[in-house]
Amino acid sequence: MLTRLPNRRLLEDRINLAIRHAHRSSQPLAIVFIDLDHFKQVNDTLGHAVGDELLIQVSQRMQDNLREDDTLARLGGDEFIALLTDIGGFSQATQIAQRLINAVSEAYYINQQSFRIGCSLGISLYPDDGNTAETLIQNADAAMYRAKREGRNTYRLYRSEMDLAAQHHLALESELRNTLETGEGLFMAYQPLIDRDTGQLISTEALVRWRHPTQGIIAPGDFIPLAERSGLILALGEQVIKLVLSDINAWQSAGCRIVPVAINLSATQFWQSNFVDDVTNKITASGIAPNLITFELTESILLNRQAKGIEILTRLSNFGCHIALDDFGTGYSSLSYLQHIPADSLKIDRSFIEGLNDEKRSSRPIVAAIGSMAHELGLTVVAEGVETNAQWQVLGNYAIDTLQGFYISQPLNAQAFSNHWLGLNVE
Ligand code: C2E
Ligand code: CA
Ligand code: CA
Repeated sequence: MLTRLPNRRLLEDRINLAIRHAHRSSQPLAIVFIDLDHFKQVNDTLGHAVGDELLIQVSQRMQDNLREDDTLARLGGDEFIALLTDIGGFSQATQIAQRLINAVSEAYYINQQSFRIGCSLGISLYPDDGNTAETLIQNADAAMYRAKREGRNTYRLYRSEMDLAAQHHLALESELRNTLETGEGLFMAYQPLIDRDTGQLISTEALVRWRHPTQGIIAPGDFIPLAERSGLILALGEQVIKLVLSDINAWQSAGCRIVPVAINLSATQFWQSNFVDDVTNKITASGIAPNLITFELTESILLNRQAKGIEILTRLSNFGCHIALDDFGTGYSSLSYLQHIPADSLKIDRSFIEGLNDEKRSSRPIVAAIGSMAHELGLTVVAEGVETNAQWQVLGNYAIDTLQGFYISQPLNAQAFSNHWLGLNVE
C-alpha cells in the first residue's frame, strides 16, 4: 500500500464507531472528502513514479495537519477522506479544511522538479448531514464536487440550510485572504479625540476599513469576527500596524503636527508569543517615536491571564508606548487588577454615554463612578461614542478628560484627517 493509509472498509468501520461515540458525547464529527485537482495531468506528464511520490507527500502533509485522533484514509487514486472527531462545530471543520488546502498547495520538489497541486474538499457533518458512514461519505463527496465546480482548491459544506450564510462567509473569507496577501484594499480611518474643555485635538484612533471590490467599504464589525475565526486576524493585525506607521510617516514628511495614534489589538494578536518584539521592532524600524503609539485593548483580553498580560503591557509601556483600556465597563474583570495595569487611559464604553440621558435608567452614576475611580488611579478618562451636544454638556459634570464620537467627527481617511485635524492644507 502506497501511502500506508487505511482503506475504505477500515474507514467505514472507524466512522461508525465514531458515530456511536459522538452520539453518546453529543460532539459532532466531520467527514472531509479530499480530491486532488488535476492529478491525472501530473501522472500523464511527469510519470507514475512522480505521481506515486506525490501521493505519499500529500498524505504526509495532510496527516501533519490533522490531530492525532483524526483518521486519514485513502479511497484509491487521488481521493482521500479525513474523519474529524470531537469538533466543536462546522466552523472548526472549515478551519481544518482550509489548513489542509494550504498544506497541500505548498510547492513539491520531486526528482529535482518543483510543482504545485491543489485540492478540492467537501465536508459533511454528523448528525446534520447523515447518521451512517455511507451517507456521510456520499454527502461529503457531493460537496466536494461543488467545490470543484465552483473554482477548485477550495472547500464546500454539504449542509444545505447553512449554505447561503456559509457560502457568503466563505466567499468573504477568501476575498479577505486575497486582500491580505496583496496588501491592497485595507486602509485606516482616523477619528479624533479632543479635550473636553478646550476642544483641542489630543490623539486619534485608527480604525480599519476594507474597500471591497463589489460591496463598497466594509466596517470591521463585519469582517473582524470572520478574520478571528479563519486565523486571518494575525495577518490583519500586522497589516494594520504597517498602515498606521506608514500614515504617520506620511504626515510627518508633510510637516504635520502629530498626536498619538491608537491601534486596536485583538486577543489573538496580543497573545502571540513574539508580539512585543515584533511590534517594537516595527516601530523602531519606522523611525517613529514610541510615544506616538497607543495600544487599545479591552479588559476581557486580560481575563484569566492577568499576570502574563500585565507583563506584556509593561514591556510595551517601558518601550514608550501608551496603553488604553477600551470599552471599559462591559467586561467582567475585577477592579483590583486595574491598579496593576500600566495603562495611561481608560475609555468608558459607548453604551454608558448613550445612556446618559436615559430618563428611566440613566447611566450617569456609572459614568461618574468610573470617571472618578480612573482619576484616582491616575488614568486619563475618555468618553467614546459622543453623538450629541446634550451628552457633551452632561459629561461636563464628571471626571472626563477627553471626548470621541460622531458629534466631534466621524472617522476620516488619512488624507481628510490630516487636512482637518493636523493642520495640513488649511485654507
Ligand atoms: P472600538 O474600538 O470601540 O472603536 C470605536 C467604534 O465606534 C468605531 O467603529 C467607531 O467608528 C465607532 N464610533 C465612533 N464614534 C461613534 C459614535 O458617536 N456613535 C457610534 N454609534 N459609533 C461611534 P468601527 O470603526 O466600526 O470599529 C468597530 C470595532 O472594530 C472597534 O470598536 C474595534 O473593536 C474593532 N476594530 C476597528 N479597527 C480595528 C483594528 O485595526 N484592529 C482590531 N483588532 N480591531 C479593530
Ligand atoms: Ca478602540
Ligand atoms: Ca471602544
